[in-house]
Amino acid sequence: MKAARTARRAVAPREADVGRRGALGALAALPLAALGACAPFVQRAAPRRIVVVGGGYGGATAARYAKTWGGDSVDVTLVERDPAFVSCPLSNLVLGGSRTIADITVSYDALARRGVHIVHDTASAVDASERRVRLARGDALAYDRLILSPGIDFFFDRIRGLDTPAARAAFLHAWQAGPQTTGLRTRLEAMPTAAYSRSRFHARRIAARRAPTSARARSRGISAARSRAARS
Ligand SMILES: Cc1cc2nc3c(=O)[nH]c(=O)nc-3n(C[C@H](O)[C@H](O)[C@H](O)COP(=O)(O)OP(=O)(O)OC[C@H]3O[C@@H](n4cnc5c(N)ncnc54)[C@H](O)[C@@H]3O)c2cc1C
Repeated sequence: MKAARTARRAVAPREADVGRRGALGALAALPLAALGACAPFVQRAAPRRIVVVGGGYGGATAARYAKTWGGDSVDVTLVERDPAFVSCPLSNLVLGGSRTIADITVSYDALARRGVHIVHDTASAVDASERRVRLARGDALAYDRLILSPGIDFFFDRIRGLDTPAARAAFLHAWQAGPQTTGLRTRLEAMPTAAYSRSRFHARRIAARRAPTSARARSRGISAARSRAARS
């Protein structure tokens, strides 16, 4: 008995090999034209739907690489409420006055050219059980995978004094680059104390450069006016 089982185990793989080799041989014998004729019947898997909410640094990068690496196997849609991307870190340059808001604004066209569908709308809700993102204006989007990257926001209603639209409009935090940044820049430019301190600072520096140097200050390597300014 034992010898017969061993013999069957030894023979069975060889039969399977023959079967595989036979099938491969038959396939190789098929003319290429015949294989081509079968092509319409080969079902390609539907692309996986990836929806990304928020086109900031996080969401735009995720959408770009999901499409770059996924190719035709994924269908990537980016939902962004603003018409263009405005860089938050670079907005400091606008506040400082060395760049304009246009300098730090980039359109989403490059992402669209890479095959990402851009939907300018606001995601208002996510139905995780149905796998759908509801939009404020357009039709809901179905997804297989969802990436949420909406950035930060304030709980204005939890901050006393900021619960009215007028109070919010007056509170320029500039944490979201765009109108907040330009608004804060305008306010900084209009501040009389800023101009006053700057002119006073410059006047002091000029006086320090021109002032005669006292013996004591000379020995310390600084001008008298500068040492007076340092003390005040
Ligand atoms: C003044 C300033 C200076 C900074 N400097 C630096 C720095 O030097 N270095 C650094 O690493 N980081 C810096 N940061 C932080 C950096 O900007 C953030 O970490 C980064 O922007 C976060 O990226 P994010 O994609 O998560 O969010 P965000 O860049 O805020 O993007 C979120 C996007 O989601 C969109 N969105 C939100 N809700 C919805 C919705 N419901 N539907 C559709 N779209 C929606 C918004 O319109 C926005 O475009 C700075 C930030 C500020 C404000």
